[in-house]
Amino acid sequence: MEEADVVVVGSRLAGCAVAAPVARSGRKVIVIDKMTFPSDQLSTHLLTTTGVSELAKMGALPRVLATNPTRVNQATFVCEGIPCSERFRPADDGTDFGICVPRDLQDICLVEATREQGADIREGCVFDDLIWTNGRVAGIRYRDENGETREVHATLTVGADGRRSSVAARVGAWTPYRMSKNGRGLVFRYMDDPKLGTKDAETFIVWRENKSMAFAFPSAPVGKLLVLFMGHRDEVSAARKDPEGYWQAKLDQHPGMKERVAGVDSDSLTKVRSTGDTPAFFRASSGPGWALAGDAGHFKDPVTGQGMRDAMWAGRTLAEWVIPQLDDPASVDRATRQWEADRDLHCLPAYHFANQDTKIEKQSAVLQEIFRDAGRTEDPDLGDLFTRHRTPQEIVPLPRMVRALTLALIRGKEPRGKIVSRSIGDLRTELAIRREIRAGDFRSTRTVEGSDHTGVKWPAPPKAPPSESGMPPVPGAKKGRSEADSMEVSP
Ligand SMILES: Cc1cc2nc3c(=O)[nH]c(=O)nc-3n(C[C@H](O)[C@H](O)[C@H](O)COP(=O)(O)OP(=O)(O)OC[C@H]3O[C@@H](n4cnc5c(N)ncnc54)[C@H](O)[C@@H]3O)c2cc1C
Repeated sequence: MEEADVVVVGSRLAGCAVAAPVARSGRKVIVIDKMTFPSDQLSTHLLTTTGVSELAKMGALPRVLATNPTRVNQATFVCEGIPCSERFRPADDGTDFGICVPRDLQDICLVEATREQGADIREGCVFDDLIWTNGRVAGIRYRDENGETREVHATLTVGADGRRSSVAARVGAWTPYRMSKNGRGLVFRYMDDPKLGTKDAETFIVWRENKSMAFAFPSAPVGKLLVLFMGHRDEVSAARKDPEGYWQAKLDQHPGMKERVAGVDSDSLTKVRSTGDTPAFFRASSGPGWALAGDAGHFKDPVTGQGMRDAMWAGRTLAEWVIPQLDDPASVDRATRQWEADRDLHCLPAYHFANQDTKIEKQSAVLQEIFRDAGRTEDPDLGDLFTRHRTPQEIVPLPRMVRALTLALIRGKEPRGKIVSRSIGDLRTELAIRREIRAGDFRSTRTVEGSDHTGVKWPAPPKAPPSESGMPPVPGAKKGRSEADSMEVSP
């Protein structure tokens, strides 16, 4: 049995973001992860300026940059052929570029950097159960890399163990109080960038065509490109059955992407990876002696590419709330609750934005006009959605929306009645979102029509630990890919 100030389960974005500042403050922090690093994770791993800035705050940026990623400071968003090219708005520390580093390269940098700052990170160690004292979580029981059961007692236990969080299950927060079904699936692969040396090879590009989206992310090391398609989630089964046939069909749907990857060396194409399993959710994320950071507590549709940034933001801010309180458990519990409320306010606009973007609908005439308007200059505008400098509501206030509607009615190719009726529905959703953000309710279970999508069948919680089920302990060490992507919910 050991003592620590903070014990963390999970040592990727959220876990390292909690542990690094706690260790820097001179407190004892122990982190366990069932994986051994390097370890991959199902993710398309885009970070914009504020995400890169979180890596800097964690102290991991120099190591991540040593993987030699393309530093990207501009994005092009194309909506039904209407382009909008912008510079990214820099983060508060001046970071003015985004990166896209594969998780097997990136996450080991976080582990090493956090360890270097004093955190005790233990790989190949599986969380089994919580230790409770007088109704408060007082630490964890885990199996080390040899299968030995060990205990850590701590003032605060943090679950940073991803969407399929066992810590959430053990505190009784497994089933989210709010969830929204994803409309889109993700199908992606890597390749050598055929446009290396051109401006395209230093630009994030997103095409929105009809009901489908295509993304080109210059990756790491320089010269690698990640290509992602987000069509209907049901397309994922087609992509699994016939990956190359599916790939060609998507290129035909997105001529801009077809041109972007023209001439690619076919030997450089990796296997196609996919998932249709990305429901968004909020879980209760704080309680006596415990907190859930990163995906363990909140997940939003990956169409926004903000999960990693938010996981680091959540981990860092949790640490900032609790570090001054660590000598007083009651103060820690008040701080984690305030942190949770703060996190929800911070993430709610992006949650709704992602819910709207995961809907399988044609690009609206109004959205096309917003793109045309934003595309008049290269100043940061729509990109603020992804850097999180402004909320969607700040970027498109009602007068801008009305102006876009007017132009859509003048220029739009669809019948005016159709444009108006869709706009009324969108406006209703938008007003409900604004009302909810203004209200700022804690753990709100309301559903916003047009944003919260029903129909998620939440899976059963992870199995009880072997010690409880009478099974003998098994060695914990696991190599290769994390299982965070295996939370299959019915389509
Ligand atoms: C398909 C897809 C694409 C995405 N694309 C992007 C993108 O482009 N940009 C972006 O910012 N975000 C993206 N995301 C989201 C992003 O991947 C997550 O938000 C991010 O990984 C969350 O980090 P985390 O540290 O909270 O959890 P995770 O990365 O899930 O890490 C959890 C860790 O906990 C460990 N763990 C779990 N259970 C146990 C246990 N019992 N004992 C010990 N350890 C345990 C795991 O081994 C793992 O290492 C994407 C997600 C998906 C699914």
